[in-house]
Amino acid sequence: MNPDSENQNKGNILIVDDLLENLQLLSEALLKLGFTVRSVTSGRMALKTVKVKPPDIILLDIKMPEMDGYEVCRILKADENLRSIPVIFISALDDVFDKVTAFNLGAIDYITKPFQIEEVVARLENQLTIQRQQRLLEQENIKRKEAEEVLYQSRALLASVLNSSLDGIAAMQAVRNPETGDIKDFRCLVVNPVIARAFQRTREEMIGKLMLKKLLKIIQPEIFNSLVKVVETGNPLERDFYYESGDSCWYHFIAVKLGDGFAITIRDITERKNIELALQEANQKLQELANQDGLTHIANRRGFSERLQAEWKRLARENQPLTLILLDVDKFKLYNDYYGHLAGDDCLLKIAQTLQKIVRRPADLVARYGGEEFAILLPNTSLQGGIQVAQKIQQAINDLAIPHAQSNVKKIVTVSLGISSFIPNLEMQPDILIGNADKALYKAKEEGRDRFSINS
Ligand code: GH3
Ligand code: MG
Ligand code: MG
Repeated sequence: MNPDSENQNKGNILIVDDLLENLQLLSEALLKLGFTVRSVTSGRMALKTVKVKPPDIILLDIKMPEMDGYEVCRILKADENLRSIPVIFISALDDVFDKVTAFNLGAIDYITKPFQIEEVVARLENQLTIQRQQRLLEQENIKRKEAEEVLYQSRALLASVLNSSLDGIAAMQAVRNPETGDIKDFRCLVVNPVIARAFQRTREEMIGKLMLKKLLKIIQPEIFNSLVKVVETGNPLERDFYYESGDSCWYHFIAVKLGDGFAITIRDITERKNIELALQEANQKLQELANQDGLTHIANRRGFSERLQAEWKRLARENQPLTLILLDVDKFKLYNDYYGHLAGDDCLLKIAQTLQKIVRRPADLVARYGGEEFAILLPNTSLQGGIQVAQKIQQAINDLAIPHAQSNVKKIVTVSLGISSFIPNLEMQPDILIGNADKALYKAKEEGRDRFSINS
């Protein structure tokens, strides 16, 4: 080590003594030992130099003219910036030295003259060591206080986040079976007011308690195993769940592993979910409307085509027959021309309602195919079954007995029907069923109307 830095480390001493020989003797000895030494011969000079550069220690003679050591010490101790500099009194053996006054004034030690240099050095080093340790302690104290402040701030931040968050926040610690190591339940470490409110408990009632299994039993018991998986695998879990609590019922949570447990945030998504559900419902209604005929409220051609496609495929798999009846009102143009369009609409509505009364099996479908034409789709129904339905329809329309003065068929509204039946086959398009029924319908018209015809 370089001697200069060693000297600096040894300590900076100020010697105050009115006797020059004393000063010289002591300062030379201390300089030799590596101390940095300043010497002054009066209290006044001592006070001046101390203010310019405070020493680590002051060796202060008591008996001095003008201002004695006690007085110097008193002034030093009264000054906030200087009072921490340790003072060691030097007194001659024959001086009337008042140790009590010295210590009361704040001196830390005293040395009597004539002194042995080893004793002075020992006492100085002693004090310097104490001083160094004190400084270290003070620094550590400052650091600890800073750390405490940071800790306090982060705790305050955490508390304010937890208390002001609109989301529920909690931290849970796994409680394991000591023999198997399996997770039995979770202990609640942290819980914020939102969660406590949702479960109608106080935070104090929840913190430290083993209650997750019990709580989940009323919500969704299988979530427990999913949370165990979060802890065991470290993979986060995100999910919606339903739990009625006050005005809220839909929640979304995210759980992430935290130590041997997990942290969870829960958000009330009731409003969003209700909007989603309302939208779904509206979409479904829209879909239904798109497939419905405005006048008769039965399926329209689009609804019919969708159902035909689906049934064609299904019955092809099941190897079961699909029968289609196409129905057309006879001489309807004349009806409209004579009774007016509104009466025509009314007549179509009555026919649609009549068809629906007859065609009653859940898989059956009555649709308005277009204008005054209707389609009746009969899944799992043979040609024979189709003929029976056609006959029933004819009878029912006849029973309606809607007057049709202009018809040359009968004086009431009549219908013609074309029937076609197939066991569907995926190599064929369902259009063949429509084409055949249409041909049969044409035939029925040709043959004089008010009848059915078959084309299979
Ligand atoms: P046919 O016996 O050969 O079937 O003769 P038709 O007069 O019934 O056949 P045509 O195809 O010549 O006329 C169908 C008529 O059906 C034409 C139109 O006035 C009427 N029509 C079609 N759609 C509607 C509707 O929505 N409301 C009303 N009131 N009439 C309709
Ligand atoms: Mg027609
Ligand atoms: Mg017609």
